[in-house]
Parts: sequence; C-alpha cells; structure tokens
Amino acid sequence: MEPLRRNPEAVARCIQEANTIAVVSHINPDGDTLGAATAMYLILRKLNKDVALFCDGKIPDSLSFLPAVDLFRVPTGKEGPFDLMLAVDVSDRKRMGSADGLMAQSRMTAQIDHHSTNPQYMQVNSVDGNSPATCVMIREQMDFLNVPMTREIAICLYTGISTDTGNFSFSYTNAEVFHLMSELMHHDLPLAKLNRILFREKSREQVKLLGKALNSLTFCGNGKIAVMKLTREDFLETGALSEHADTIVDYGLYTTGTKMAMLARETEKGEIKFSLRALDPCTVNNIAERFGGGGHPQAAGLTLYNGLNEAVEMVLAAMEEEQKSLEE
Ligand code: 5GP
Ligand code: MN
Repeated sequence: MEPLRRNPEAVARCIQEANTIAVVSHINPDGDTLGAATAMYLILRKLNKDVALFCDGKIPDSLSFLPAVDLFRVPTGKEGPFDLMLAVDVSDRKRMGSADGLMAQSRMTAQIDHHSTNPQYMQVNSVDGNSPATCVMIREQMDFLNVPMTREIAICLYTGISTDTGNFSFSYTNAEVFHLMSELMHHDLPLAKLNRILFREKSREQVKLLGKALNSLTFCGNGKIAVMKLTREDFLETGALSEHADTIVDYGLYTTGTKMAMLARETEKGEIKFSLRALDPCTVNNIAERFGGGGHPQAAGLTLYNGLNEAVEMVLAAMEEEQKSLEE
C-alpha cells in the first residue's frame, strides 16, 4: 500500500472536473464527519456544484444546528449517477454503510480522512493519520479550491475540530488547530453557544443512561482498565438512543489510576458496539483492529456479534494483554 499522505491537489482536480457530487459521512456519525460534510456542502455550493449529502444513520439531535444538516439522506442505492463521490472522515469502506452502493454509481471516487488505519479504498485518497481532525484538512482543501472562509463554514469546522480533539485537550491537539481557531474566531464564531451545545448540555435520557453505565462500572487488569456495559433494557428503560452513549466511555478514564476504558453496548440490531479509550502510551486501535474494528491510538471502536458478556470477555482479555505488555 502507498504511504498515507494529504493530497489536496488531486482532490481539488476531481472537484473541478465534477458537476454532480455525493458527499458521504460515516455510520454512527460524529461531529467531525458531519462538520466536514456540511462544510464541503457549503464550499461546493460556492463553486456552483450540484451537491447531495449522504449518511447511513440518524443525525444526532445535538448536531442538528449544523448548516445544511437537514439535507442528509440515507442512501437507498438508487441515487446517482454522480460525477464524484467524496467520503469525509470515513476510515474504512465498511463505515460508509449503505452509501457503499454509491461507489458503483460514481465516475470518480475520492476521500479526505485522518485515520492512520485507512486502507485507501478510493481512487483518490487524501489521508493524513497525524491530522487531529478531518475538518482541519477541509480548511486546507478550501485554499486549493479558492473558497474563502465564512461564518457558516467556521461553525462546521469548529464542530469537527473541537469534538475530535476532546475540546482541545487530547495530546495531538497541535498549533495548526489553534491557528485555525484564531481564523474561525475572526469570522464571528459563536463559541460559547456552540461549546454549551456540544460539551455541556445533555438530554435527560443521556444523563439517565450515564447513570446506568456508571452503575455497571468495574475495574479489571489490576485496576487499570475501566469496564462499562449497557444492555438493551438500559436503553429501553431510559428511553435513550444509541447516540446518547457517545461520550460515556470517557467517564471510565476519569478515575485516577485508570489507563484504558471500555464501553460495550447492545444495539437495537443485537450487535455489541465497543468504544475503547486509552491514555498515552497505552493504545487501543491495535486491539480494535484484532476484532475487525479500527480508529485512533487512544480512541477506537469495533463491533462483535456474540452475547454481551462473552463479547466483553474477549475484548477485555486483549486489553489486559496490552496492559501487561506495557508493564513488563
Ligand atoms: P467511538 O468509540 O466514538 O464510536 O469511536 C472512536 C473512534 O474509533 C472513531 O474515530 C471511529 O471512527 C473509530 N471507530 C469506531 N468504531 C469503529 C469500527 O467499527 N471500525 C473502525 N474501523 N473504526 C471505528
Ligand atoms: Mn474524525
């Protein structure tokens, strides 16, 4: 496989040659994939392109403030043809979900992403595993398309950058991020309002679900691994949706002495979705990859199809192994 690299020139060429463009976000959409897609929508509309937004999944209520977010459609496979399909923040082909069907309907395919596990599954791949967020790469892409910053685009980019950097706290939050934030502030970014929506305000269902997860909390691997589980009943009893589980895993890492955290939850389809987190130098993307998942060194995920407890035992064994190897 070719080494990963940013390639905004090649992506810009694809865009310049296209009139109809499908922009695709990943399943279980987060702030970075939706911020990047909505920013691309605004950018491409400035270039008078005919743009469609696709996401195989529900848009979380907490991200409904994003400009143009109402235009997202769940792909049925009957859309198209398109001159170009552009995936943003989609670390592997599986994470397109039903949008995968659009690949065959598109003359050209391209992607912009920041996951180091990306297998470069498009014709044109602009992938930088060291970039803190796909939205940072979208800003660079704007220069190659000669589209200037606007307040609306700033709102989209802030959403992706702030959520993927843990509100500017993760170790890979770099100078480029703060440089970009300065530019966004010059475009009248409503920082306090967005910060409250993205990081403080929680729905009642979300807080009740957090209570269930904290009740399930146990410590394994010599007390260094925090484990939480959410059953289908927990979701039904609280009225919470899958999206409400999004940041719960972080609470596992908040306890002193914890190096890794796991949240396992049963989805309505009966799958077990895992969120894994770690403190540097512990890593979890290697563990996720062993089970067909992926992600970043300190934040990764995977899906298993066994029963909840059995699935947790399997992933926990791998985490304990990783934890032990670091202690040796
Ligand atoms: P989360 O735990 O918040 O769902 O995901 C954390 C990170 O892992 C995100 O960057 C996400 O893209 C990645 N991730 C989550 N689940 C999967 C998965 O099943 N496969 C892959 N390749 N990446 C995943
Ligand atoms: Mn991202």
